[in-house]
Amino acid sequence: MPLSRRLFCGCLAAGASFAAGAAARAQSGECAVFTEDRQKAITPDEALARLKAGNERFIAGKSINCDLMAQVKQTADSQAPHSAIVGCIDSRVPPELVFDQRIGDIFCARIAGNFVNTDIIGSLEFATALSGAKAIVILGHTNCGAIKGAVDNAKLGNLTAMLRNFDPALKAVGKVEGERKSSNKYLVQKVADANAKLSAENLLKRSPVLKGLVDKGQLKIVAAMHDLATGKVSWLA
Ligand SMILES: [Zn+2]
Repeated sequence: MPLSRRLFCGCLAAGASFAAGAAARAQSGECAVFTEDRQKAITPDEALARLKAGNERFIAGKSINCDLMAQVKQTADSQAPHSAIVGCIDSRVPPELVFDQRIGDIFCARIAGNFVNTDIIGSLEFATALSGAKAIVILGHTNCGAIKGAVDNAKLGNLTAMLRNFDPALKAVGKVEGERKSSNKYLVQKVADANAKLSAENLLKRSPVLKGLVDKGQLKIVAAMHDLATGKVSWLA
C-alpha cells in the first residue's frame, strides 16, 4: 500500500506518527540508551541529577515515552547503567517509573524495607566497580509495611529474622512521642528515615570497594525517601 493511502487509515496513521515520534526522540537523544561512552562521561552528580529530573517528570505526568523494544535491542549485548537503586519490594515504588528511567539505565536491588546485607552489597559492588554505575540511591518510602512490622515486632516465618535488620534503625530513633506501634505514623516515618540513612552509611562501613570509589570521587551514595501519596522523592542529608 502506498504511503499516501496508508495515511488515510486513522489507526495506521496514528501508529506511523507514534513510530516517527519515537524515532525523532531517539535521534534527539532523549531515548538514547546508556552506552559505555556515556557512562564514562557522566559524573556522580550528573547521574543523581538524571534521577532527580526523572522524578520531576514523573510527578508532573511528563514521563518520557520511548520505544522500549528498540532499547531492548540496543542493550542486548551490553549494559552501562548510570546508577543503582536499593528499594523496597513495595508495588507502589518501582524505581524505573518513579525516576522515569528505561531499559539499561539503572540497576535495581529490591528487598522489603530497603536494608543492605552481604548479598545486596555484593550486587552493588558488581554494579559500580565492575559495571561502572556512578551513583547509589537507598530509596525508602512512606508507610512502609516492613518498617511497620519491625515497629510492631511482628512474628511470621522467615520474616521474624528478616525484621531484625531494622533493629539499628529502631534503636537510632529511640523514644518518640506516642505509642511504640505501627499506628504511630510519626514513629514509622522516623524509623524509615533512619533505616535509609543507616543503610547508606553501612555501604561505606561494610564495603572497602564502595568506599574506595567514593573516596576517589567516582561514586556517590545517597539516601532518599519516596512519598507514596505524591510520588515525590525527597533527598535525605
Ligand atoms: Zn516498604
